[in-house]
Amino acid sequence: MHRDPLPSNASLYARREAAVPRGVGHSHQIFIDRAENGEIWDVQGQRYIDFAGGIAVLNTGHRHPAVVQAVKDQLDRYTHTCFQVVAYEPYVELAERLNAKAPGNFAKKTLFLTTGAEAVENAVKIARAHTGRSGVIAFTGGYHGRTMMTLGLTGKVAPYKTGFGPFPAEIFHARFPNELHGVSVQDAIDSLEALFKNDVEPSRVAAIIIEPVQGEGGFNVAPTALLQHLRAVCDQHGILLIADEVQTGAGRTGKWFAMEHSGVAPDMITLAKSMAGGFPISAVIGRADVMDAPNPGGLGGTYAGSPLACAAALAVMDVFEKENLLQRAEDVGQRLTEGLQALAQQHRCVAQVRGLGAMVAMELCQDGNPHRPDAALAKALAAHAAQRGLILLTCGTYGNVVRILVPLTASDAVIDEGLAIIGASLQAALAG
Ligand code: PMP
Repeated sequence: MHRDPLPSNASLYARREAAVPRGVGHSHQIFIDRAENGEIWDVQGQRYIDFAGGIAVLNTGHRHPAVVQAVKDQLDRYTHTCFQVVAYEPYVELAERLNAKAPGNFAKKTLFLTTGAEAVENAVKIARAHTGRSGVIAFTGGYHGRTMMTLGLTGKVAPYKTGFGPFPAEIFHARFPNELHGVSVQDAIDSLEALFKNDVEPSRVAAIIIEPVQGEGGFNVAPTALLQHLRAVCDQHGILLIADEVQTGAGRTGKWFAMEHSGVAPDMITLAKSMAGGFPISAVIGRADVMDAPNPGGLGGTYAGSPLACAAALAVMDVFEKENLLQRAEDVGQRLTEGLQALAQQHRCVAQVRGLGAMVAMELCQDGNPHRPDAALAKALAAHAAQRGLILLTCGTYGNVVRILVPLTASDAVIDEGLAIIGASLQAALAG
């Protein structure tokens, strides 16, 4: 294998192109050398502020010392047994702590897996086992993963679903409300009723799955009125309500679970990404009677709930308490919102600034007209930002939303520096 003595981003990118399929997309042609908290240094020594957090994984920042220490300690004891073969306490302790934290005044149990998509897959399996029903209702613009079931649930075709069908049957989509694009809560409720009329009887539906704030879909917040309505519909028809908190969970929105903002308790919650500060683990947390529906052996996975990731996740929960990071998420959210709103005052193209807690985004449209979403501008902004030392992600049904997922542990100075780069990059992108 060829190795560069002094690799450059360009030479590594050329090797990547030759060795890795193009289907694995890339946001930037940057190769990391090292990272700390809210900052990254590339192989050429260039510093970047990280407003992406590895797509919502680093609420506690890169290499938080407490997380690194917990994983080092775990490395020195044991790294893998497969929990189903020889069990270990960190898995059980993490389940206990998540059960205690999750909303809902009922007994809970937690299952660990490895990825967000796997958590969603298992939530659907559990819902079907519990209800004996097949149907699953998801929402337009939603994102639930890249496996076949989760692609089926995902409500955005390009680039995720293109060329990969057919997807599993018994999946239906209701409309997700979007004030800017003229979809009201009532429209969403009507679309659910239409599904019950036209496509599937409620008694065949096992679960309704919804993101409390759509992540990939553009940081669209599910209005409390909709979540309350879904809870009532689920209760009426014996359907389970699943909150996909893979992106919103682990404190991003100022609560450990974003559903807490609404006061609505789902029957199951999927969690992943930031729960272990960069180590791969996901969870399904749910009503104990529901979670116990599958037979022994029906759930699990070789690496599911790896000891290293459990140790990291426990450390992340400790860090949140010690550093008061839920409050910090509120403060960071306010800082980001004010920064983006200042841009909206100056530039008509900023059609909306929105979010929940520290999950903040701005939607870009030509002349601020929601019917003319400007994906090219969002893309150019992110490219200019990278040149100026800021890693930024876009998202949204139309690809025209710039989202911020900066570590909550980043300093105000770093966050302000990042915001200033967004301002300068927007100007540069508008100038062409
Ligand atoms: N659900 C949501 C809400 C997500 O944001 C994501 C990832 N972006 C997933 C599921 C899938 O997670 P993973 O990529 O870990 O499979």
